[in-house]
Amino acid sequence: MSLLLNDRVWVMLSDVAKRGVYPLHASRLGIFRVPIELTARSEISTVMNSLKSSGFKVDTYADRIYATYKWSENGVNPVTEKELSADLDITVEIVTGEVVDIIYQIKPIESFGDVYWIKNYRQKADANAKMIIDTVIWNSKICDKLIAYYQKTQKLSMDDAIIKIDEMTPLKRNPTVRTATAPQTLPQDQIPSNASVPTPQPTLGVASASSGSGNTSISLTGTGTSYTKVEGPIDQSFKSKRQIVGQFQGINVWGPIDPPGQLGIWGTEVCVDFDICVADGACIEACPVNVYEWLDTPGHPASDKKPFMIREKDCIFCMACENVCPPQCVKIFTK
Ligand code: SF4
Ligand code: SF4
Repeated sequence: MSLLLNDRVWVMLSDVAKRGVYPLHASRLGIFRVPIELTARSEISTVMNSLKSSGFKVDTYADRIYATYKWSENGVNPVTEKELSADLDITVEIVTGEVVDIIYQIKPIESFGDVYWIKNYRQKADANAKMIIDTVIWNSKICDKLIAYYQKTQKLSMDDAIIKIDEMTPLKRNPTVRTATAPQTLPQDQIPSNASVPTPQPTLGVASASSGSGNTSISLTGTGTSYTKVEGPIDQSFKSKRQIVGQFQGINVWGPIDPPGQLGIWGTEVCVDFDICVADGACIEACPVNVYEWLDTPGHPASDKKPFMIREKDCIFCMACENVCPPQCVKIFTK
């Protein structure tokens, strides 16, 4: 949605009202108009079911559908040093009709109580709203209609229309698979066998972890120079096959490692297989909360820098980095 937002969504102060939406004082409002008709009850029900299966809380009223995403924040009281936690949420409103308006408001943080310790609340709420919108557009009937719209108005092939919408919705979560031969919103395991779904790459043949302690401080230099680049994707079940062999600036590193040519998988919730990463920077650009920064890794066969998840704790689990990584070497473990 971030791309759509650049030219289609207006963020405005609360004195603006549209189609009966009256934002609360001090709220910010984003509106995106999708040029498709959504009026049939059966189609609206289909959209609602898609949203439920995408993991959002869904409500409806009149011609509107509400999709809510909830997340938790944890922190520490600076005075008592007691652990703090708070539950936050953001709701996106889908106004159906001859066109579809998708609207969200970011509530003032005070509406969640005395949660002064939460950092970057607006940024996180904004990113989560965009994540809902991208998921709504991609995972529901709305995408089928948008494909038809682009085919008709821009004379795009179905493949090109799918690619266009795919690129417009980089923050979508748990995306359904769409191809020209399987354009409907099918779960991955129900795609017809003749659909042109990319063949999954074999998972890495990972040896058991090298020796070492989880508290060892990892060095990026060493004698490991006889390695070649590893092909993706990341082994999704690496946590049951590898062990933590040390840390780098507080971030866990899963072995085996043999620097500088073999660096293993880094992170606990935001995980990147450094042996696959080719350092194109897509994850760094996609991350709305700046979890990553570049780390120089001279002598590595795949790339001489890697996206280091130094602010892993700031992750809002929007999945953007996982979705954009070309060699699929990112794995996000949601809380
Ligand atoms: S998107 Fe993937 S390949 Fe590109 S820098 Fe990030 S982790 Fe590396
Ligand atoms: S690290 Fe990835 S999943 Fe976490 S906030 Fe950044 S882009 Fe989203």
